[in-house]
Amino acid sequence: MMLAGHYSVSYLLKKADSEIKLWQLFLAVQWLDVVWSLFILFGIEKADTQHSLPASPIHLTYMPYTHGFLSSLLWSGAAYLGYRVFYRGKGSGKGSRKSALVIASAVFSHWVLDLIVHDHDLPLLGDRYKVGFGVYHSIFWSLFIEFGLLLIGLFIYMRSTEGKGSFLGKYGMGFVFVILLLFNVVSIWGPHPPNEKVVAVFNFCYYVGFTWVISRLERRRALSRL
Ligand SMILES: [Zn+2]
Repeated sequence: MMLAGHYSVSYLLKKADSEIKLWQLFLAVQWLDVVWSLFILFGIEKADTQHSLPASPIHLTYMPYTHGFLSSLLWSGAAYLGYRVFYRGKGSGKGSRKSALVIASAVFSHWVLDLIVHDHDLPLLGDRYKVGFGVYHSIFWSLFIEFGLLLIGLFIYMRSTEGKGSFLGKYGMGFVFVILLLFNVVSIWGPHPPNEKVVAVFNFCYYVGFTWVISRLERRRALSRL
């Protein structure tokens, strides 16, 4: 599972639409994996830890509902509708069309980035015609792609915002970057997980945890006037 790299898209889309909260984009880019974690726990989708790849601790055997090409398009559509219907921005019910579209593309971006790193486990239709370019066979290229992307996104975000005085406002996002890097390192070189449910619980906490951390940190940064 690609972890940190997806957040690159969050930072970039925040730049594209400043109305959206960064934490919403952190949740959106991992939405397919959030649902995946729950589906693994409930036994709806399947994975094992037997035949894992060098850069991924888990072997994904059956996930047509969260990581299919068609199903991820449907989840994106659901995110569009959910944002339009339920989210109320500042003032008069401003879950705008544009913002909803940005959220939907954030959700779909997950599948596109997974396509690069996963190894023939993303089904195009139902559970068939599986694709994935398999970068996870190489630890070097996996880390290079994930953190290269993340650095680009973070750099653009940091340039378009400024810390509001406090220490965390200035350096918080940098700390997040380092912690994200540590999590990837642990997932590659750390202890091998005993089973897929442990991975699902770990990942679920990771996605929710970072969404929460970002919601606290983004308040300490404002759009720069430049
Ligand atoms: Zn995924």
